[in-house]
Amino acid sequence: MHIEKLANAIDPERVSVDAEDLDAHRFDRWCLKHWQDWQGETLPTPGCVVRPESTEEVQALMRHATEHGIAVIPWGLGSGVCGGIEPSDDQILLDMSAMNQVIEIDEENLLLTVQAGINGLVAEEAVAERGLTMGHWPQSIGISSVGGWVSTRASGQFSTAYGNIEDIVYTIDFVLANGEKVTLGKAPRAASGPDLRHLALGAEGTHGVVTSVTLSLRRQPESRQFSAWYCADMATGFRAQREIIQQDWKPPVMRQYDASEVARLFPDHERDDSGLILLVHEGPAGRVEAEMHAIQDIMAGLGLAAADAAAAANWMGHRNNVPEWRDLLDQGLIADTIEVSGSWSQIDTIYHNVVAALKAVPDCVNASAHSSHVYRSGINLYFTFACMPGDTQVMGDRYLESWDRALTATAQAGGGIAHHHGSGRLRRDYLHHDLGEGGVTLLRTVKNALDPQGILNPGNLLPPQSDH
Ligand SMILES: Cc1cc2nc3c(=O)[nH]c(=O)nc-3n(C[C@H](O)[C@H](O)[C@H](O)COP(=O)(O)OP(=O)(O)OC[C@H]3O[C@@H](n4cnc5c(N)ncnc54)[C@H](O)[C@@H]3O)c2cc1C
Repeated sequence: MHIEKLANAIDPERVSVDAEDLDAHRFDRWCLKHWQDWQGETLPTPGCVVRPESTEEVQALMRHATEHGIAVIPWGLGSGVCGGIEPSDDQILLDMSAMNQVIEIDEENLLLTVQAGINGLVAEEAVAERGLTMGHWPQSIGISSVGGWVSTRASGQFSTAYGNIEDIVYTIDFVLANGEKVTLGKAPRAASGPDLRHLALGAEGTHGVVTSVTLSLRRQPESRQFSAWYCADMATGFRAQREIIQQDWKPPVMRQYDASEVARLFPDHERDDSGLILLVHEGPAGRVEAEMHAIQDIMAGLGLAAADAAAAANWMGHRNNVPEWRDLLDQGLIADTIEVSGSWSQIDTIYHNVVAALKAVPDCVNASAHSSHVYRSGINLYFTFACMPGDTQVMGDRYLESWDRALTATAQAGGGIAHHHGSGRLRRDYLHHDLGEGGVTLLRTVKNALDPQGILNPGNLLPPQSDH
């Protein structure tokens, strides 16, 4: 594996073959791998873990990998949930977590430049000290990196007003397979050909290595208020959310929970079989006040009753709690979340069909959903399923059947099969639903052009060639 030669390319102190270190980099937070590990299966470790501290070191590593035809698996902070990390012992695990510096905060232009491996919460805290915010709050903010956000096309909980990561990214430094560095993006907006930032956004480590990122910041809001509403059923709630967004009100957070999730997550606010919509309103005080009045009118006009705003405030306080798969597995449960999206005219069908599809899986004990990211033309849904098969050997089958049924039902209703967690190895065989067969071929062509030897995270994102 040329580890000795690797030491000529990069400071040997950056290279680890420590067994515990290798073990800790076998997989990300994909539930299926955690189940396999929990069962006692032996999962392969990488040949070594390399922790560069600069873009130049990443370039040197990639030149070495290209020269020797060694595969490189980029790792941000390993919070991915779709199996983006599956190294083998002849591969290099490129752990970006030592590239964790804030490079610059530009308060005039509201720009933050960081090394890509920085923990998201550390980056947010650095700008918060100056009264600024990234406005990007994935639930995993404390366990994920900025480079990981770019690589998976992540969404934050405040995306309805502030956009997803692709709306927040200004420039990206990207190291290609051959070690060349390119800076993608330049001005606040450009018409100089295709937007090359999208070669990195969502590439999941298969096109190059994100080494630094500049994000466009916001000033912290003057005012923050909460409100909450009951909807008799999901369709009524979707109608209300559509009206709000299409009338151009932009509460950064609008989340609509079905009755099952209200009972499980907000028992103090349960009412009949109603769903619950939580809103966070932010911005200049006058606009927040106007927005709250307008939304009150929209809700009342559609027959939605006010709920206790404390439900939204409580959500805000606990929103970034991170569960561990092992705790659920120990209780005999295999579970996951599946985020999809659809237009307003599709979304109610997607909701009902996917819940029914998940409930049809043997041993299903939970199939529920909430929405959390709203657009003028549609909305996402975030399904949660859990199966309790008794026999732990069949947990993996139940898991994969749940995913298959949910993605197939979504695609059949015309929805998008991946809202923000990415593809990894979990969704790669379903990618054609979103990209079309021609799109999958085009993506493969792009991949082959950027990485002709196929050394960047092989097997991730794209389906194996024989399938599609
Ligand atoms: C409890 C929990 C909650 C979550 N909530 C959200 C959420 O609200 N919104 C959301 O979008 N996601 C969420 N996620 C998913 C996950 O946190 C995101 O996908 C995140 O962006 C991954 O970042 P990471 O640094 O951990 O990347 P990793 O898991 O380390 O890597 C993810 C993929 O990106 C590649 N990669 C990582 N860094 C680089 C780099 N610098 N250059 C090139 N490729 C790279 C890897 O090869 C891999 O394919 C959640 C996950 C968990 C466990």
